[in-house]
Amino acid sequence: MSRRQVLIGSAAVAVAGAGLPGAPAFASGRSGVSLRWLGVAGWELLFDGRRVLIDPYLSRLPVFDKEGKFIADYPLSVRKELVDQHLGARPELVLATHGHYDHLLEIPYVVEKHGSRVIGAETHRHLLTAQGVPPDNVIVASSGEHLDFHGFTVQVFRSLHSQFGAYGYFAPGTLTAPPPPPATISDLVEGGSLAYMVTVRDFSVLFMSGTANYVEREIAGLRPDVLVLGMSGHANVYDYTARALRATRAKLLVPSHHDDMVTQLDDPALPLRGNPGAAAELTETARRIGLAARVLDPEILRWYEL
Ligand SMILES: [Zn+2]
Repeated sequence: MSRRQVLIGSAAVAVAGAGLPGAPAFASGRSGVSLRWLGVAGWELLFDGRRVLIDPYLSRLPVFDKEGKFIADYPLSVRKELVDQHLGARPELVLATHGHYDHLLEIPYVVEKHGSRVIGAETHRHLLTAQGVPPDNVIVASSGEHLDFHGFTVQVFRSLHSQFGAYGYFAPGTLTAPPPPPATISDLVEGGSLAYMVTVRDFSVLFMSGTANYVEREIAGLRPDVLVLGMSGHANVYDYTARALRATRAKLLVPSHHDDMVTQLDDPALPLRGNPGAAAELTETARRIGLAARVLDPEILRWYEL
């Protein structure tokens, strides 16, 4: 058994020190909500025996050639055995932040296997139905929805994709009808980006986790208990981290989308955590703006009781 497998089996709280002196210990395990990082921008929430997935992506397609160049026509394929192994319990809901392959790829298989419902924008619905997802399984959202799942709620917020070197990004585009079945990673277009807040009783987790950009006015004043924040590709987004923290003032900060995306889950070389610079940036930013938040730098596939 590997070290990682041992850790996967343990449910524990591990919070990297952060925030202001005297800040209350937050990850107390008292909320009844547990969170697990699936790698890349994938997350799983577990509460009251119910499960919600966000952008599950365990296949980690090796989309870079030997020279490190991105292969834009890399064929789509799901590592179903990894999904079976790690996502064996039924999620009742899957939240899609946008249409890109590293967010949407595995959702059709999860729906086929478990019959889960999905929330996404219109383009995401077309991409999913083109891959065999029944239209009735997809709840189309745009922004402002506050959906009651009777025991928890989901709020949907319009968001933005990360903007890279030339202020653009890979595979933009929107769809108004189902396309031919997607074959390569370029076929899974962004189709708009969304953020989600899941609230269980009075405990809320805000997932601005799929991209490293957002609409500040959409999220201002939300005050979630936990903010899961995309932490790569924001060099050209003005004051990215501080604006997100000031707007939401979460008590616990968790980095997302901060690993190499390609090292396989069953590769012993897979680091336990993502880029340590992501948690460090959250910690430093919270300190700089005087926010008494703690930072959780999660181990991949490990459950944390919030
Ligand atoms: Zn993307």
